[in-house]
Amino acid sequence: MKTLSIQKFSILVITIIVAFLAVIFYDFYLKERQITEKLIKTNLQSAALNLNQFLRKNFQPGQIGNIASQLDSRLVSNKTISFIQIIDEHNKTLYATPLYTGKNYIDKKSCLPITKIMQSSLEKVSCYEINLQYYNKLQAHTYHVLIGLNSQYISQLLTQEAKHLMGITLLFSLILFVFLYIFLKKYIILPLENLRTYAYYSEYSPQNFLIKEFESIRYSLEMTFRRLKTEQKNLYKLSTQDPLTGLYNRNDLTSQVERIITSSKRNNKKFAILFLDLDNFKNINDSIGHHFGDIILKKVATVLRLAIRENDIPARIGGDEFIIVLPDIEDERNIVDVIKRIKEQIATPILINNESYSVTMSMGVSLYPKDGKDFNTLLKHADIAMYKAKELGKNNYQFFTDRLNKNVQRKIKMHSILSEALTYGRFELFYQPKVDITTNKIVACEALIRLIDPHEGIISPDKFIPLAEESGMIIPIGEWIVQAACKQIAAWKNTPLETMQLSINVSGVQLADKNFMKILQENSACVENSKLDIELTESVLIQNFDEKIALLHEIKALGITLSLDDFGTGYSSLSYLRKIPFDTLKIDKSFIDSMQENKIFINMIIGIAKDLNLKVVAEGVETQEQLDYLKNMQCEMFQGYLCSKPLPSKEFETLFKDYNKRS
Ligand code: C2E
Ligand code: CA
Ligand code: CA
Repeated sequence: MKTLSIQKFSILVITIIVAFLAVIFYDFYLKERQITEKLIKTNLQSAALNLNQFLRKNFQPGQIGNIASQLDSRLVSNKTISFIQIIDEHNKTLYATPLYTGKNYIDKKSCLPITKIMQSSLEKVSCYEINLQYYNKLQAHTYHVLIGLNSQYISQLLTQEAKHLMGITLLFSLILFVFLYIFLKKYIILPLENLRTYAYYSEYSPQNFLIKEFESIRYSLEMTFRRLKTEQKNLYKLSTQDPLTGLYNRNDLTSQVERIITSSKRNNKKFAILFLDLDNFKNINDSIGHHFGDIILKKVATVLRLAIRENDIPARIGGDEFIIVLPDIEDERNIVDVIKRIKEQIATPILINNESYSVTMSMGVSLYPKDGKDFNTLLKHADIAMYKAKELGKNNYQFFTDRLNKNVQRKIKMHSILSEALTYGRFELFYQPKVDITTNKIVACEALIRLIDPHEGIISPDKFIPLAEESGMIIPIGEWIVQAACKQIAAWKNTPLETMQLSINVSGVQLADKNFMKILQENSACVENSKLDIELTESVLIQNFDEKIALLHEIKALGITLSLDDFGTGYSSLSYLRKIPFDTLKIDKSFIDSMQENKIFINMIIGIAKDLNLKVVAEGVETQEQLDYLKNMQCEMFQGYLCSKPLPSKEFETLFKDYNKRS
């Protein structure tokens, strides 16, 4: 539908009102005119009546001249009559007012009897007639008195009124129009126009309006705009602030750092990014609940705010991860000052439910432009440094270095090599013989894992086992090892290698995994007859000692034997040695390497093993001299290059046959 402006609409309405009023005025005018006409007619009627009476008394057909002057004067006294004419039965004019003398007399036919004057219209009739009876010698004669109307004068009388009324109507209409327009403009058109602009641009609120509805619209618009503004502010806050601590969030931090990068670049300045992470926050959260965890995070935020300078930027970017940007760093010692302040402040214990909690933080620092030219790199490098601080015992800080980065890069690369190796089956077990010293026969072997990478070649476990333990990747790798070892035991069944015991190495992370026991149970076939042996180092047992002992008993119950690997390098506490159901002690290679100095220890270890009724294996035996000594000391078995390096299974089988045939 076509829209109409309120201005045009108002004009239309006003015009209709004015037109309506004009119609009323016209009607009024018509009535006035009728009254005037009636008056004129009454006047004419009485004039005619007078004339009739006068003529009845004084009319004598032959002596009109006697009354002519009187008839003339009647004309002068009544302006509505333009002439009087008297005609006889033969239409002969006996008298006519001087005005008409010599002119064409009026036609009698156009005259109306005076008796019909009231029904007639003065505009249509030009004359009226009166019939005059005159008796001459008792004979009646009819004369006609024609009274001509002064149409000009009459219409003047009638229209004079009309003009007057018309003038008043026009003037009134005009005044009404203007008044209505001004009124509507002031109280409706302008307020509406103002409201419209206000609703569109919401810039300035218009002044209060007189009309209640407009005022309420204006008021509600004002309220809506106010609410929108607060909501906008809140939204902005939400988008830039961390709701829990009120510090900046990652979004805002990113844009702020980008600005700092631009200005630092221009002014050749340095700035630092501090990556802070609460130590053991997960434990705190789990033990005292998330609600109190939040209280701690808030407290940390307050501490950070207090410890930094005014134009430093504190932010929270994750659960317990905080960032502080320190712009304009001239001396790196300033960074250490800030770190020390944070450390001191953080150290004050927090009281929650009357219990005090102490938290510590590990921090990593990266510097612009040395450690990165964009925010993401700087953040990543600060994170790497922070991890190093955690590795080195937490509650500390580290600056990012290239070496750290290389280590991380190496780890990342190794991580992808490991997961690919799992997917594409690039692991292989090599076997190193364990030789019975008395009989000089291979009686057992240790499975040692190798990663055969298409680019890097054979990668030794020293390079990837610690990393796999750190990343948890050791769990799937460990599962593969158990399966591969069991497959090997099964393959050697019904061959000369059938009697051989096979050892696998199991790390602490694997042993702590809930599924480890299940994996062993799933491979129960290889477990029978003590074919499988598990080598563990002492370090594996340090944490949760009692639980581990229980687990080891369960493992033993499956038919698996246990060897204590690298014995002598760890705690070697004899008290716990008794509690663990080990079958074999492996003397660490380092003792054999420098045998001369370690003879006492070697003797001692062999003695302990004998006391505890354990078998002894010497690791890393490379020379005949070493072997001779061990034989002398009644060590039962040896393992080392003197017999063989760890070999792939086929080569190991050949070695086994050759070696055992030879001796
Ligand atoms: P480990 O259990 O002490 O294994 C003995 C290591 O000494 C092996 O190194 C072996 O090749 C080496 N070795 C044996 N005899 C001699 C010798 O006469 N001279 C010298 N120089 N070295 C000798 P490898 O295979 O590189 O294994 C290193 C370590 O990696 C192992 O130490 C073990 O802790 C770990 N590892 C190897 N395979 C596995 C595995 O399948 N699972 C787990 N969890 N760890 C493994
Ligand atoms: Ca071992
Ligand atoms: Ca060892």
